[in-house]
Amino acid sequence: MKIETIAIHAGNHNDENTGAVIQPITMSTTFLREADGSYPSGYIYSRSANPNRTQLENVLAKLENGVDAAAFSSGNAAGMSVFQSIKPGTHIICPDDMYHGLRNQLKTLFAGILEFDFIDTNNEELLRSYIKPNTGLIWLETPSNPLLKITDIRMVVAIARERNIKVAVDNTFATPVCQQPLALGADLVMHSSTKYFGGHSDLMGGALITAEKNDWWTKIRQVQEMGGAIPSPMDCYYLVRSLKTLPYRVKGHVHNAQLLSEYLEKHPKIESVMYPGLSSHPQHEIAKSQMSAFGGMFSFCVNGGADEAKRLISSLGLFTVATSLGGVETLIEHRASVEGPDTKTPHNLLRVSVGLEHIDDLIADIAQALG
Ligand SMILES: *Cc1c(COP(=O)(O)O)cnc(C)c1O
Repeated sequence: MKIETIAIHAGNHNDENTGAVIQPITMSTTFLREADGSYPSGYIYSRSANPNRTQLENVLAKLENGVDAAAFSSGNAAGMSVFQSIKPGTHIICPDDMYHGLRNQLKTLFAGILEFDFIDTNNEELLRSYIKPNTGLIWLETPSNPLLKITDIRMVVAIARERNIKVAVDNTFATPVCQQPLALGADLVMHSSTKYFGGHSDLMGGALITAEKNDWWTKIRQVQEMGGAIPSPMDCYYLVRSLKTLPYRVKGHVHNAQLLSEYLEKHPKIESVMYPGLSSHPQHEIAKSQMSAFGGMFSFCVNGGADEAKRLISSLGLFTVATSLGGVETLIEHRASVEGPDTKTPHNLLRVSVGLEHIDDLIADIAQALG
């Protein structure tokens, strides 16, 4: 079935007891046990499994074309479960432009436990030169945050397969509507469900989806269950509900992002626009070969440096100045100040999460702010 249909049906389960069309929220932490010790419902205790989480994991696995999914309480918890499931001493290759929260997690919590290098993962020669005997994982983020760099997933998978290295992709920016890394050969997909999956800036969550149920996946499931960074039944319910409209929301985000980035690219006060859907994007051809649409995120650099970038965002009326992304409202932020002093992000860069307002209103607002 197509993704629009999967999104609506794969996470729902009619309730046999009441006939409710929408699956109720099961708040119970514990489940009935028979005298012989068995659990006739299949559920024991909600940290291990809960009916709302089961349905959420069903729809997540199908949306990404995987065989199983694990839901977490945040994107960072999902990422951490990957790093915790890897043998200490393993070397990981990560992108030089990587979600700063996960980069800081590695540097702070996994220093001395795992080895890692942050490099341009789309540079084939460089990538090969960084592979060591203990390299066990290549972590990709494409499009990357906040520079929207594209990595050729097929190229990385081909190199990794030669040496039995796993490939995981943070697919938060693209969503499975625009890009399906497992179909391109990746082993694991990670999401911050806080973003497009939730879609309304009101819920935190994370997800991992696997191409196969192997020993690594068993370990990840153990980290999920024993570590306990699981989403509540309420959050699972809201996510299943939000995912039903994901394909249509993403189509709207993509439409607006393309038009807004084209408008800005032509504006004399703008130095550059980074959006994989623009033919000026350095990896536009790779993006076309692995994405069916280019997502709702772009960044741009303003002529005149950090002061001019900050002046611009303070002149906007409709764009909300805040971090995060993937909600129905357009967000804009000065990324370097969010990432802190060690950031390599240009100081005149603004990152936009294009919302679902009418494109004419968005363009009118930024036109008046640019003056
Ligand atoms: C937000 C984000 C994360 C982290 O997710 P949280 O839900 O905030 O923990 C990871 N990767 C990317 C690309 C993100 O945008």
